[in-house]
Amino acid sequence: MMNIEEVKKIAQNCLNCKNPMCVQHCPIANPIPQILSFIKQDKIKEASDLLFTHTNASPICSRLCDVERQCFGNCILKNRNQAVKFYEVEKFLSQSFYNYPSVNASNQKDVAIIGAGISGLSCAIDLASCGYTVSIFEKSNQIGGVLAQTIPSFRFDTKLLDVYHQLIEKLGIQVYYHKEWGYNFFLEDLCNYKYIIMALGTSLSKNVLHRNAYLLNGLDVLSQAKKQNISISKKKVLVIGGGNVAMDVARTLKRLDNQVHIVYRRDIPNAPANKKEIVEALEEGIIFDECLAPSKCIFENHRLIGLEVEKMELITDESSHRKMFKKTGQYQEIDCDYIVEAVGLDADYTYLKKVLPDFFDETGWIIKEGYLKIGQQIFFATGDYFMGASNFANAAKLAKKTVKLLEEFK
Ligand code: SF4
Repeated sequence: MMNIEEVKKIAQNCLNCKNPMCVQHCPIANPIPQILSFIKQDKIKEASDLLFTHTNASPICSRLCDVERQCFGNCILKNRNQAVKFYEVEKFLSQSFYNYPSVNASNQKDVAIIGAGISGLSCAIDLASCGYTVSIFEKSNQIGGVLAQTIPSFRFDTKLLDVYHQLIEKLGIQVYYHKEWGYNFFLEDLCNYKYIIMALGTSLSKNVLHRNAYLLNGLDVLSQAKKQNISISKKKVLVIGGGNVAMDVARTLKRLDNQVHIVYRRDIPNAPANKKEIVEALEEGIIFDECLAPSKCIFENHRLIGLEVEKMELITDESSHRKMFKKTGQYQEIDCDYIVEAVGLDADYTYLKKVLPDFFDETGWIIKEGYLKIGQQIFFATGDYFMGASNFANAAKLAKKTVKLLEEFK
């Protein structure tokens, strides 16, 4: 962590651009030049206040955002190799966030939030600051969602969630643990709440290959690794996917002394994972098998010996920032001992569809309004649970929008 003098030095570099590219490429449009301007004037509290009012997700975003593709990578000074490292400033300011929330007088309105991941926490902090009485219902025994349960410690230290524990305490937010929506915690348990926010994230792993004993899913591998409960070592493992979950799985398995390949249908520049994660994965010796899509597992005497893959051809698509891929009909085999699929995540709507079918449109997605009024109650969906798997900054942005929407019903 930088000290105040180093942070001031970063702020001094900022040109205070009229049309700041850093802000344009920040998913939550942080007021970067204004924050840096406060720091230049030695107004640290004002800088922290402004950042916190804009987003309370900075402890997370400053560490997990893809800054190369966002503020840092688009700073006007990038070409001079002097791009402003706003994420370092954000890290510094957000360590004392718990000092800042001003709490409005209680408005006597109760809000229930299901899920204590970034979206749920973000809504909870903003609403409690506005005077709502907030209760969070979380299925596990800790806050943070994927930050606590799956993201490896080499990427995010869970101690950083302490600032959220402090905010929860300061704002009087009640957290109920071991409350699993649709299993031991149901719609009728929420009858005393006028506002209910669903922030359950995306917990279902997508898969493309037929289930077998040698085929694992990325989220399971990461959560078992967090519990130090993974016994795969000195094996050759293929990780399918090009996103952050795939990188996390590959880097976790590499640390367990496995030979790890990432098999991805596009090439490295077109992979959705954060640039930093890809660079670090390459440095750690992970091999990228690019432009290959999995076709089927190959067995010998009921034991997995390899994966058949199809070569993909990349094609430019004007409507997409990433190249698309086309099948070529050319197949090859890659030998392996295990395969881990990390090809995407879905929200689990099973229970919600049963109890609130009107919350969904004819295609099975949550209605685009993102809320449903039933009698005196209003249900909202937010974060990845509403928009599908995305990044932390987008989840925080949507949480902000949900809070604003809820305020309109006050
Ligand atoms: S683009 Fe760079 S120099 Fe310009 S306002 Fe943003 S951080 Fe400052």
